[in-house]
Amino acid sequence: MSQAPSTPMSAAPASHPLPSYLQANNLGPWGVYLQQVDRVTPYLGNLSRWVETLKRPKRSLIVDVPIHLDNGTVAHFEGYRVQHNVSRGPGKGGVRFHQDVTLSEVMALSAWMSIKNAAVNVPYGGAKGGIRVDPKTLSRGELERMTRRYTSEIGIIIGPNKDIPAPDVNTDEQIMAWMMDTYSMNQGSTATGVVTGKPVDLGGSLGRREATGRGVFTVGAEAAKHIGMDISTARVAVQGFGNVGGIAGKLFAEAGARVVAVQDHAGTIYREAGLDVPSLLRHVAHTGSVVGFAQAEAIANDLFWEVDCDILIPAALEQQINAGNAGRIKARMIIEGANGPTTPEADDILHDRNVLVLPDVIANAGGVTVSYFEWVQDFSSFFWDEAEINARLVRIMREAFAGIWQVAQDNKVSLRTATFIVACKRILHTRELRGLYP
Ligand code: NAD
Repeated sequence: MSQAPSTPMSAAPASHPLPSYLQANNLGPWGVYLQQVDRVTPYLGNLSRWVETLKRPKRSLIVDVPIHLDNGTVAHFEGYRVQHNVSRGPGKGGVRFHQDVTLSEVMALSAWMSIKNAAVNVPYGGAKGGIRVDPKTLSRGELERMTRRYTSEIGIIIGPNKDIPAPDVNTDEQIMAWMMDTYSMNQGSTATGVVTGKPVDLGGSLGRREATGRGVFTVGAEAAKHIGMDISTARVAVQGFGNVGGIAGKLFAEAGARVVAVQDHAGTIYREAGLDVPSLLRHVAHTGSVVGFAQAEAIANDLFWEVDCDILIPAALEQQINAGNAGRIKARMIIEGANGPTTPEADDILHDRNVLVLPDVIANAGGVTVSYFEWVQDFSSFFWDEAEINARLVRIMREAFAGIWQVAQDNKVSLRTATFIVACKRILHTRELRGLYP
């Protein structure tokens, strides 16, 4: 990391100190996010006087989600919806069902959505939601009841003009259909624009399912040109083979790259000559995991990080690349499909080792970009064809990435800091124009 200029501002206005749960503690994603904001503050010029606003989510809701289990007993789950910032438009961000979800994690994910939406310049603030549950332990009926009750509970703060959820880890088109229906029936009329990532037959958009992976591939291909890497001969390793990692892996393989290693929640597989990605996708759809794929060898999970590859795509969970493994990574380029996969310590190690990191806040913005197209199509009830959607997606991603690359060159900073510079300036500019309320 090059040296940041000293803050050109006089001291920030006095604020009440952050409560302990909002403070950086290095332990969780929210602490990582706060460190990222601190790193960018010196580059914000006069707008840095508003930076405190980025360090506090605007609104955080914790809800109890009680449901009848199939065995007749009642179970309670804890759910969250956080709207980090709404200066640029309604809140926007996914809903995660995972046993490790916490308020602090959802706060960080909502903040990264604010940054991401501003980075690609879609007219949204940032939000995120989640339920602390392992959905694999629920029956389909239990999953539906939990999704519907959660939607009713957060219904007081979401809406097509207020906050628009979407899929994230362990949530899919069916969950979005249940959310849309529950919200609509509570309101008394169908409101397709309340969520994105819906089935196409319910107002969803063509191309949405593949959009995040397509965005990962698009910025990866753009960055490769800058560093003289030939995608068609590159070796790729992917962590997480769900919506994001699976599609990104498929697109790289279609471009000629060899996907040599894949890791998911159940294990890691490797094939020097390259995995047959379409067959692997079918295997995962059938069995729920990459483990047991016949045309590959199983390797220890920890060895995944030292696999000989040119491109590494983390597409699972946060803080996977950390001080413990960043020094062993062989890739020249890391494309962050997941949100928050790299800790600040790892960022520094990778920077010193000349590994190019394409940060989540631009690399995985393809999903929210096509979510924006879906929302626009829902409002106008006029639907575009897939070629148009993909062309618009690629154009937005390329233009956003080119601007960020230039800011990184001009300021001699990492692409993460450059993306934060672009995004924070946009957010804080609207903050200044609107005043204190948003
Ligand atoms: P998904 O549920 O479709 O897939 C998640 C994948 O991660 C699965 O293959 C799972 O096995 C794997 N995984 C889970 N725990 C793991 C672990 N401990 N080690 C290794 N692998 C593990 O989820 P997704 O939608 O592909 O989301 C993946 C990441 O991408 C998340 O960080 C999410 O926030 C981010 N993201 C998703 C979207 C989207 O449109 N779906 C958009 C932007 C960012």
